[in-house]
Amino acid sequence: METKRQNYKGSEGIKMPGNTHNGYEALFEPFSIRDVEIPNRIVFQPHFTALGTADGLPTDAHRAYHEARAAGGAGLLIFESMAVHPEGKMSRHFVDAWDPKVIEPFKEIVDAVHKYGSKIFGQLTHSGHTSLEHPTPIMWAPTQIQEPYTNFMPKPMGKSDIKATIEGFAISAKNVIAAGFDGIEIKIAHDGLLRSFASPFFNQRQDEYGGTFEKRMRLCVEVLEAIKKSVGSDVPLGVRLCLNEFTPWGYELDYGLRMAEHLEASGFVDYFNCDAGTFSSYWMEIPPFAVAQGSFQNLNIALKKQSKLPVIAFGRLKEPGLAARIIERNEADFIGMARQLIADPNTPNKIRTGRSDEIRECIACNTCAHQVGRERAIRCTQNPNAGRENELNDLDATPAPQPKMVLVVGAGPAGMKVAEVAARRGHDVMILEKSERVGGLLSLAAKQPLHDEVLSVSHYLETQLRKLKVQIVFNTPVSAEVIRESGADVVVLATGSRPRLPENSGRKYDYPNKTLGDLSASLGRQAESKISGIDGENVFSSDQVMIGNSAIGKKVVVIEENGHWESCGTAEHLADQGHEVYLVTSRSMVGGDLEGANQHLFVERAIKKSIKIITNATVLSISLNHVELKSSLDPDHPWKIDCDSVVPVIGRNSEENLYIELSDLEGAETLNFELLRVGDAVAPRTLESIIYEAALVGSRI
Ligand code: SF4
Repeated sequence: METKRQNYKGSEGIKMPGNTHNGYEALFEPFSIRDVEIPNRIVFQPHFTALGTADGLPTDAHRAYHEARAAGGAGLLIFESMAVHPEGKMSRHFVDAWDPKVIEPFKEIVDAVHKYGSKIFGQLTHSGHTSLEHPTPIMWAPTQIQEPYTNFMPKPMGKSDIKATIEGFAISAKNVIAAGFDGIEIKIAHDGLLRSFASPFFNQRQDEYGGTFEKRMRLCVEVLEAIKKSVGSDVPLGVRLCLNEFTPWGYELDYGLRMAEHLEASGFVDYFNCDAGTFSSYWMEIPPFAVAQGSFQNLNIALKKQSKLPVIAFGRLKEPGLAARIIERNEADFIGMARQLIADPNTPNKIRTGRSDEIRECIACNTCAHQVGRERAIRCTQNPNAGRENELNDLDATPAPQPKMVLVVGAGPAGMKVAEVAARRGHDVMILEKSERVGGLLSLAAKQPLHDEVLSVSHYLETQLRKLKVQIVFNTPVSAEVIRESGADVVVLATGSRPRLPENSGRKYDYPNKTLGDLSASLGRQAESKISGIDGENVFSSDQVMIGNSAIGKKVVVIEENGHWESCGTAEHLADQGHEVYLVTSRSMVGGDLEGANQHLFVERAIKKSIKIITNATVLSISLNHVELKSSLDPDHPWKIDCDSVVPVIGRNSEENLYIELSDLEGAETLNFELLRVGDAVAPRTLESIIYEAALVGSRI
């Protein structure tokens, strides 16, 4: 059974023409919002970066981040949500737009963007009852109802709070325009106070700010009016508008369109920036790869049909053909991109100059969202420089002082990334790969349901290596002898990893009468616990499953200790192949290391596919027709599950034999080349970590 991507409202997504290098001209027509001419139709959508200081200031990291996207050709950049009031910060790293101290640092950001002819607007919000890890001392809301996702109970706002909020928007707009921004956007979208005031669910007031549709919309209109009075009617003022909350209790498209109609009729709005989802439906706010590209196009089209104002389309619009058709068909006036421009700031310039095949595509893994959701500076799997522009942009573009012969062993993502950066810096690079293709573990990961986009990582790197004339020699297993005789100045081992089984379960550590098995048993974890039968013929590794091992039986128990896709995706793949699957984890939830939106959609699919999820349990023993389990909540009553096969996903170990042979036997100091290791060959980690590490290694050769 093939798993189909989710589409919403019956949309089948949009068929995308291939990258022809032609037909994208529509994306590069200028378009004006009031008197501000935007040089093209590609908008860098606002998104939290956590690059602000803990005391509310924009930083030089913000400057470098935005400068890179302006240099890459985005026509309009909308700076991330900024707080309009001290009680309205969704994170400690929100910029305090209400404080005039932001004006000076903002000037540098604005100048950096203007240098490339791009325009920059600033988005203002009061975060109300939504917060990340560190809520403000008292959160504000129209009524004392919490956002169900976070459960922080807010204070119902009094009249003075409403007045302070309106003043906060006006003052903040003035500060932002004083810094040179070209326009303002307010957020009536996935988080924040203005959307909760407009919401029939969150706003239960019976005063002049609630009770009827018009009264619920009153605060939004008063905020718009105050901003226009504060900065003048010529300054473009837009609304990021949630058109469908996608929650059981939330409003839907009909209500979203009614909100747009009302706001447009006020005369204070100059454009709409479409959006959907809320904190309680964040898989719609930041849709991961399980959601098809173009899935929200019905929302964009509906608003464009209704409104006379310019409309920015949203929703995983990364593909140039899709983007160009939307503009050509007048389904929107601008294409909003956030993650695609995080992954590749140069996307607009590459499209414009006929280099679409060189675009480094966003794979919708949501590592970026996972990172900032924990209030940590933004990071990207595909682009290690994202959020680190100051640290890395120069480093990986600086020519090497002395060109060297570099031999890379392994054409997985780490090996290819090292090779790319090293070759770009002028080294002569060759890769030896034991298999017949590039990608390493990515080839197996891509076989997991809905994971095909992960191949964009190896596709991008392979394209770059071809352009940089890096030779990749396939079907070439490498020995220490081959390396010694290669004549290379630098050898980089990117030999990857293998699945780890708890074969060391009885291993003693430096404490009398204790084994690692005892330790992990006491923690209720599977990692080192002793499992009798783990070496049985009915036990298979995740790699064997994904390669396709015909000996795997009908009923399969997948043991999850690694809460990533390696366990979840393997279990789902087995279910799609017609197996009856149990997914057993020692934690309180499966997929505990996945980003929230991915985890939610995985669990939703797992339930539909009848994958039986067992939490807080470890496997004690494996026999040919069952496993014995123990719950950490009821350890005295082990029980059995009938099964034919078992797949333990307990982590991975580095493939380091070659490294040990080269460095230990002869002694690293006797080698006549520099020996380096990179990626899983050093320590198995996330794709984001190893690509970053590989970029650093490549930049230092
Ligand atoms: Fe896209 Fe993943 Fe990068 Fe985010 S981290 S921009 S989702 S590739």
